[in-house]
Amino acid sequence: MSEINRLVIIGGGWAGIAAAVEGIERGCHVTLVDERQYVGGRAHSFTEKHTSTEIDNGQHLLMGCYRQTLSVLNKLNTQHLLEWQRALRVVFVDVNGKRSILDASKLPGILGIAVGILRLQSLRLSSRISIIRFALMVLLNRIQPDEATCIELLNEHHQPSDAINAFWKPLILATLNSPLEIADSGMLIAVMKLAIFSGGENSKLILPATTLGDLTSPATAWITNQGSTVRLKSRAESFVIENGRITHVKLNDGTNITADAVVTCIPVHALKRLLPSAPISEFEVSPIVNVYLWYNGSWLDEPLVAMVGTLVQWVFNKDNQGRLVAITISAAADVVGLDSNELITRCDEELRNAFPTMKGIVLLHSLVLKEKTATPLFKPNERTKRVVDYSLLPDNIGIAGDWTDTGLPATIEGAARSGVAAIQRVLQNQTRQ
Ligand SMILES: Cc1cc2nc3c(=O)[nH]c(=O)nc-3n(C[C@H](O)[C@H](O)[C@H](O)COP(=O)(O)OP(=O)(O)OC[C@H]3O[C@@H](n4cnc5c(N)ncnc54)[C@H](O)[C@@H]3O)c2cc1C
Repeated sequence: MSEINRLVIIGGGWAGIAAAVEGIERGCHVTLVDERQYVGGRAHSFTEKHTSTEIDNGQHLLMGCYRQTLSVLNKLNTQHLLEWQRALRVVFVDVNGKRSILDASKLPGILGIAVGILRLQSLRLSSRISIIRFALMVLLNRIQPDEATCIELLNEHHQPSDAINAFWKPLILATLNSPLEIADSGMLIAVMKLAIFSGGENSKLILPATTLGDLTSPATAWITNQGSTVRLKSRAESFVIENGRITHVKLNDGTNITADAVVTCIPVHALKRLLPSAPISEFEVSPIVNVYLWYNGSWLDEPLVAMVGTLVQWVFNKDNQGRLVAITISAAADVVGLDSNELITRCDEELRNAFPTMKGIVLLHSLVLKEKTATPLFKPNERTKRVVDYSLLPDNIGIAGDWTDTGLPATIEGAARSGVAAIQRVLQNQTRQ
């Protein structure tokens, strides 16, 4: 085991929490610094004033393949706050309310997924077969990521329009937060292999049974109980660098923290401010809009629904009855500028058109959350932007965050993996000193 006595981790989102856990487990003394007053970063919760409900800044969906995320939650002892599907199950509902269910529970593993797709009533049989053929080619490594966007790849492999609109589009928007015309096909291939078409545990969807804050807030106590330190409401403003190594991290309150090594777990624009000489380029960002709707009665018994052909993309049932639902609109560049009242009206109308069970149900309250910088937008011809050139950086720094070269879309799991990888890097460098 290699030790760093003074390891400073900047940023307490998922990358920072995973890095802190890894660093402490490997014997380092960690100081975790975040400018916010809570850990969790872009995946956090707050109290909605009108109803006093604890809600998330946006619904987050996890999958069984989120191994690093699950390992961190295990450490924090909050893994029991997750609700796992028995097998991958997605209910698709179209604009007129026609339902079609992808249910992978009939057979184990990948066969279950194939049977689930073959039984998808909303698609023509030939389209279902096309999806399976394409997935098989991906799984057999017959399709390698080139510079294609998702739509180019799907067209190249003859995916019919109903398969694209009613199957690929909801999955791509949810996992890549990017329009099909821009989204990196390499990320789609990664998600297909690791998650959707992996089968078994990996393909299961996982919903937090509680708020995101409940999942991550115990991190502060866990870290301090191990003898390490958490400094919230503290912004890292600059570094003192001597002989090519960071010796101190300067905080906004004037404090200097002595550092043997530093791991940054912050978005790329924040890193550019902190270390202007870093050889990194910023990404365009992709917004996500969430609409919370409170109703006066029960109308929904599914935990989640993918909507097809509507502004609403996914509906999450927050109380198992539909009295509170969270609607997600990903890749929302064209939506984020709309007036909130218009968004609420449109979402409510679309739900009423698709769900006859809403007859007589009254909308009591609503809230629109616009996360304008939800995730970076990864384009196929910009992959190298995610690769950090360490040769031009101080020796004792590690760089993490969902935007780094994780091979995954910008997700909690990508962030968590990047945090662990950055710790491994600084520890290896330390050993070589
Ligand atoms: C609405 C929404 C929905 C999403 N849905 C999903 C989903 O369903 N599934 C999924 O897996 N992912 C989802 N994501 C993406 C996921 O939330 C992010 O990929 C992940 O949280 C990023 O973690 P991170 O640690 O890389 O960065 P962040 O969470 O951004 O953490 C960075 C932290 O660094 C701090 N910081 C920045 N600069 C400084 C500084 N100079 N000094 C100190 N602190 C600093 C910030 O305060 C922040 O806490 C969603 C994101 C949003 C916004």
